Amino acid sequence: MIEQKINEFFGDTESTGFGTGWWSGILSAFFGFLSFGGVLCLHFPQLLSSPELRPHYPMNTMRILIQCLIVAAILFGIISTIKRKKKILGLTGMLLAIAATALGGSSVQINSTLHDGPVIGLDWFLLDLFLMALIYVPLERLWPQYPKQGTFRNEWTLDVVYFMSTHLPIQILSFLVLLPATQATRYLSVPVLQQFIARLPWFLQFFLAVVVADIAEYFIHLALHKVPFLWRFHAVHHSSKALDWIAGSRSHFVDDTLVRGFILAPLMLGFSQSIMVAYLIFVTLHATWTHCNFAPNVKWLEKFLVMPRYHHWHHTSQKEATDKNFAIHFPWIDKIFGTYYYPDTWPESYGLDGEQIAPGFLKQTIEPFIKRNKPL
Ligand SMILES: [Zn+2]
Ligand SMILES: [Zn+2]
Repeated sequence: MIEQKINEFFGDTESTGFGTGWWSGILSAFFGFLSFGGVLCLHFPQLLSSPELRPHYPMNTMRILIQCLIVAAILFGIISTIKRKKKILGLTGMLLAIAATALGGSSVQINSTLHDGPVIGLDWFLLDLFLMALIYVPLERLWPQYPKQGTFRNEWTLDVVYFMSTHLPIQILSFLVLLPATQATRYLSVPVLQQFIARLPWFLQFFLAVVVADIAEYFIHLALHKVPFLWRFHAVHHSSKALDWIAGSRSHFVDDTLVRGFILAPLMLGFSQSIMVAYLIFVTLHATWTHCNFAPNVKWLEKFLVMPRYHHWHHTSQKEATDKNFAIHFPWIDKIFGTYYYPDTWPESYGLDGEQIAPGFLKQTIEPFIKRNKPL
């Protein structure tokens, strides 16, 4: 319903191709939103910035970025309002950018000393949304597998809410995720193993970490499919009827916590912090990419590395591919365990097969705890 309202409020019947003022309107609104949020973070850093990220911000660059977003929101807003009959998108972007400027823009000073405490990770949400959209939306617009599926396809707002839900409560989530892992290191840490791995070349350490992580992921992912109680949570991730970069965000927090926790636990046994940070960056980029509506493929590579088409088969509602392709990095792990399915085509349909889950974020978050998925 909210999605329909947003689409009606901002949308129109004109063409949305390049050069029609549609994309400049979208960019204006998006940049305006980001710059306004950025200025809010500068005003309330104690409440809206993550203690984990604060020490790493190059503040000059961040201020230049906010300034550029303000200027871009206004420029794209002007282009869009000139080109399009319905001006609301461009005007919204300009209004947000003007509001950001009126609040002090990029030059708002941070005077108080910041201390640890409960926060809302608005900085992390805005930054990750900006980076992910910047990388993946152009790829999906330039080389889509399903060209008719737009960036604002059905249920896109639901996935934005999921994206928010894994970014704003950054402290709770990193605590939940690290809990199984820290428990594991306390009892299982193997110094001999750590020393052995530390002597390997960095790239080999990294490759080994990805292999270990993917084998761990394979088994927790298998359990999420095979144990009926766990499947209720994982079914949320499989409920997307259309896949793209943000569809991968649709995941119940229990699902997310289990997967990340189980991946990090074996990594903590023998790998250094720098390898784990590198892995976290890699898994974010790779997992997002494998959900993309992105057609290009590298034939010789696709047997070794998971490409979008491979993970799309994991998401199909077609019977022949049920409970296949659990690996998220290396298809050969599925081959070893007999769950590999990879025909030369793309799937025809996506989503749950023969069952349905509740609509909306709140119901999807609560219902897996209390009841089974309904048959269709
Ligand atoms: Zn799955
Ligand atoms: Zn997926």
